[in-house]
Amino acid sequence: MTKYIRCKVCGYITTEGEIKDYCPTCGAKAKAFEPYELTISEKRKKMLDYHFHQIIVHFPQSYVPTLLLLLVVRFILIEKTLTTIDIIIRIAYLLLDIVFLLAIFTGIFDAKTRYKKLKTPFLKLKISVGSSALVLSIISSVLIFVFDSSKTLYIILILINILMNVGSLFLGKTGIKLSTAVTRGK
Ligand SMILES: [Zn+2]
Repeated sequence: MTKYIRCKVCGYITTEGEIKDYCPTCGAKAKAFEPYELTISEKRKKMLDYHFHQIIVHFPQSYVPTLLLLLVVRFILIEKTLTTIDIIIRIAYLLLDIVFLLAIFTGIFDAKTRYKKLKTPFLKLKISVGSSALVLSIISSVLIFVFDSSKTLYIILILINILMNVGSLFLGKTGIKLSTAVTRGK
């Protein structure tokens, strides 16, 4: 069985024999490491170590603010026919729907692996904010495909996007709190 050690200074966990002189995370001396017993099975740890959810959430985190920028540009240039920017915005919304869906699936998978149950206040909040973001993204996608470009359409999309940005920030902040919490569920 693999033996684990943990840095007393920063909490970094690694396998025995991995540390030469210093902690690779905080720079503390090797003697700062103490034996550590995993609070989760090795199989579960391996699944979490892929960081599926953390990788996926980078997409909406960067798409949502980028879309805001594109929407504002399109709003300013509304009198002009700009097919390229319209196509980019449409594709971006379709991708956003997909990445939000993937983020929710990987998030639920991660949470189940890490904590076994999904009913804690933080997890419930994350799932409901994440689902609302997906709904807002789908609504925006429908609006942009159904209606012609107009100032009203873009104002609605910009307002929805600002809401999504707030939600995205909130999800990221809560995610960090969850990721530093000790895993439980052998
Ligand atoms: Zn350290």
